[in-house]
Amino acid sequence: MIPFVDLKKQYDSIRREVGAGIQGVLDNANFILGEPVAQFEAEFAGFCGTGHCIGVASGTDALHLALRAIEAGDGDEVITAANTFVATVLAISYVGARPVLVDADPATFLMDLERLEAAITPRTKAIIPVHLYGRMLDMERLRTIAKRHNVAVVEDACQAHGARWRGRKAGSLGTLGCFSFYPGKNLGAYGDGGAIVMSDESLYERLKMMRNYGSSRKYHHDFIGYNSRLDSIQAAVLSAKLERLDAWNERRVRNAAMYNERLEGIGDLVLPEIGETGSHVFHLYVIRTKRRDELLAYLGDKGVQCGIHYPVPVYSLGAYSALGFSEKDFPVTEQCAGEILSLPMFAELEEEQIDTVTRRVREFYS
Ligand SMILES: *Cc1c(COP(=O)(O)O)cnc(C)c1O
Repeated sequence: MIPFVDLKKQYDSIRREVGAGIQGVLDNANFILGEPVAQFEAEFAGFCGTGHCIGVASGTDALHLALRAIEAGDGDEVITAANTFVATVLAISYVGARPVLVDADPATFLMDLERLEAAITPRTKAIIPVHLYGRMLDMERLRTIAKRHNVAVVEDACQAHGARWRGRKAGSLGTLGCFSFYPGKNLGAYGDGGAIVMSDESLYERLKMMRNYGSSRKYHHDFIGYNSRLDSIQAAVLSAKLERLDAWNERRVRNAAMYNERLEGIGDLVLPEIGETGSHVFHLYVIRTKRRDELLAYLGDKGVQCGIHYPVPVYSLGAYSALGFSEKDFPVTEQCAGEILSLPMFAELEEEQIDTVTRRVREFYS
């Protein structure tokens, strides 16, 4: 059996550091907004190359609070990728703005920047680029377009911890950068967690209050905020893991390169590009084939766990039926949803496991 991800195997390699971190929180009983949170925030801001970081309760909350902080709301439009996880779009809905979706680029499956400018209107408040699967969007091009129209950029870097675009880290290229620490992400906690990174001082001050009931100091609430905090136990786990993140990402890239080498030229498979060094951190290794459903079933029978990210595009979800999106407007995302397949991918994946997966794929086509 080859699992899709193996969190236990990773835990085995960091058992001591994680145990010590959690024990420290228990010993000090500083569970909420304690020293471990401040420490992780400083470390993660340093890692991302931003002045500040605010730990929050989840990636979804990171996106929601980020949009609140830039005052996106009723009557505004926020543009994002049609090919994304639902949470990106939920955050837009939470603030009362209208989600505007841009179809995918057939080469990368990310937001098609050729189509972005046409989606901008006088109501556009922000663009949320999504570095889906761990692959950085062309942020130079996106920022040029955003600047020309004076709209904010809120990065959804929930799948791209540590990815770089021309030397700059995911999350540091927009007004605000949002991360999820869901356990299976490249940097994952042992529960829910998230973060927003930024260099703007006033956004930092606002978000620091916003995630803590809008309070500037205890029992003084300046606006209607939220309870959305990263807890100390998760922060301690994340600090222990952050030191390994670059090495883990390198292993993911190495694993992707091994997959590519072994799968090259098989059947009708379309393989992901590795791209410029560090620009893709392979949160997911996603291939494409017209025979996706058959291949998925075959691999499942042989004990190779795969996934589809994502089988139902946001615009076709029941949650968004009232917005009246038409699938005809998103031909590339439609094609993706029918053809994409995510093979097992995690840092600890062994070469023999990759050999097994790729042998099974070759078997399927022969
Ligand atoms: C995981 C994820 C989120 C949401 O993060 P949670 O921590 O699960 O709330 C948002 N956007 C993308 C692209 C994600 O992959």
